[in-house]
Amino acid sequence: DLHQWEMKIMKLKTILASTALAFSAVAAMADTVGIAMPTQSSSRWISDGNSMVEQFKAAGYDTILQYAEDDIPNQLAQIENMITNGVDVLVIAAIDGTTLSNALENAHFAGIKTIAYDRLIRDSEYVDYYATFDNFKVGVQQASSLVDGLKARFGDGPYNVELFGGSPDDNNAYFFYDGAMSVLQPLIDAGTVNIVSGQMGMDTVGTLRWDGAVAQARMDNLLSAHYTDATVQGVLAPYDGLSIGIISSLKGVGYGSGDLQMPIVTGQDAEVRSIKSMLADEQYSTVFKDTRELARVTVGMVDALLKGGEPEINDTSTYNNGVKVVPSYLLEPVSVDMSNWEEIIIGSGYYTMDQLQ
Ligand code: BGC
Repeated sequence: DLHQWEMKIMKLKTILASTALAFSAVAAMADTVGIAMPTQSSSRWISDGNSMVEQFKAAGYDTILQYAEDDIPNQLAQIENMITNGVDVLVIAAIDGTTLSNALENAHFAGIKTIAYDRLIRDSEYVDYYATFDNFKVGVQQASSLVDGLKARFGDGPYNVELFGGSPDDNNAYFFYDGAMSVLQPLIDAGTVNIVSGQMGMDTVGTLRWDGAVAQARMDNLLSAHYTDATVQGVLAPYDGLSIGIISSLKGVGYGSGDLQMPIVTGQDAEVRSIKSMLADEQYSTVFKDTRELARVTVGMVDALLKGGEPEINDTSTYNNGVKVVPSYLLEPVSVDMSNWEEIIIGSGYYTMDQLQ
């Protein structure tokens, strides 16, 4: 009857009103950025996460920051939760750059944009932008520093050198290796650099999950298999965590004491342990990548995306992820050794002197 219909209409009105209220509440809420980082075992990713949270906050965004401790299913679950929780944008530094295709497809159909952070995400058309450093140049800087160090410490050569690569599931690892080989291959061909073990190529020298213990064990094996009658003078190491493991192995058989000079060992990320190692005359160099700057570029990209603008990019040809070339912004890495560490690392306020005590 009429009364019942009136009641129904009233109810419907109330529902509509509360829905409208809910919608306006959502509209008034700040946009949320889901930040998926690989691991806290390396200090650079902690800096990345902290800088992003700080800078996103300052720009008026909420954040969800999660670390997956280098566990692939864990990172996948974290990203899927962020999607379910309705984040507006995803910023992802992938552990394995090839395992996120389904998650990114889900994100895309939920209207969520994805930015690959530092590491390219492969095999997905739903990677909208890529913020990183010039990764090929990182490798060039590592090898150039290795060659400079070899000359300075051991004269004209030929030099005995061993090569280490990064994690084969990280797209960056190939760029670092290729950049380094662009400098080293001509010297190998000329006989100036001698890879005594003969071990070359990412398939052979890669270090799964960038694990320092794995690098240390491989260095132990190289030393016992190939250096009983020879000495090693240089080690190309693509990341500080590997450099520290390699140096432990070298010290274990007496390098760096008596007549046995420490080889030139490179690195990356300017981690505190490695700057200290440089100051102790052990590690020779590192590559500084200012994570505050990478965060700044990323916040700018997200801000543009959410406000309907065009994110700033400076590279549209380098990073093909297997499906498309991802528009990228590449920052400049800086090679750091004893000659410039203070100016670059302390001068930029990245660390204080106290942190290096
Ligand atoms: C990053 C490096 C880092 C490495 C290990 C790479 O993807 O670009 O800065 O050293 O991962 O964490």
